[in-house]
Amino acid sequence: MSPEEIKENLEKIKSSLPETVKLCAVSKFHPLENVEAALSAGQTLFGENRVQEAVEKFSKINENSKRAELHIIGSLQSNKVRKAVSVADCIQSADRSELVELINREAARINKNISIFFELHTGEESKSGFASEKEVLDLCQRFADGEFTNVSPAGLMTMAPFTDNQAEIRNSFSTLRKLKEKINSLYPQLPVKELSMGMSGDYKIAVDEGSTMVRVGTAIFGQRNYN
Ligand SMILES: *Cc1c(COP(=O)(O)O)cnc(C)c1O
Repeated sequence: MSPEEIKENLEKIKSSLPETVKLCAVSKFHPLENVEAALSAGQTLFGENRVQEAVEKFSKINENSKRAELHIIGSLQSNKVRKAVSVADCIQSADRSELVELINREAARINKNISIFFELHTGEESKSGFASEKEVLDLCQRFADGEFTNVSPAGLMTMAPFTDNQAEIRNSFSTLRKLKEKINSLYPQLPVKELSMGMSGDYKIAVDEGSTMVRVGTAIFGQRNYN
């Protein structure tokens, strides 16, 4: 994609979103130049899957002044947490309690406050995410008890199943929204505000189901080259 095409894609997607819905541009597997093109077009929120790739691109981008907000959206191994916490503003793929504990420890170590989203498993094919709502609610209790000093539980994230069945996709998104409503009523003191759901192929359904943040890659930057 040329810088012009990236700009056009961003404009097209943004004009189709309600103003309250944030657009997270997923730049994984795309080079720094493409991120720069999106930045020039006014995009500031980005998502990356892999920590090392995120560090390589975004430490350059934010070298002199902070220009981009970076969210880690891919499943995070424990041994990558230190690096992830140092480079990211938010880890959307918090999918197990030990990971939240580790994120808190590493954030405390460098005196940083970092946001996380709880990733819920709502689709059949994907393996990532908390398997049960109860695990998420138990963690919310621990947040309410003040156990995690350097982590802010700012939202929920999910990936819909990879299917053409619209009803299944919709169901996955509404499951996430209902969990957020439950958390907000049980723990109104927690800042769980964002519903990160919807990708290139399904973000319109997600917005319909209450998404506050869509994560779009292909529709902005084109196909990824995995080689
Ligand atoms: C890659 C990825 C996206 C973007 O997917 P597209 O189909 O390219 O829009 C969104 N969320 C997560 C978690 C991803 O891994």
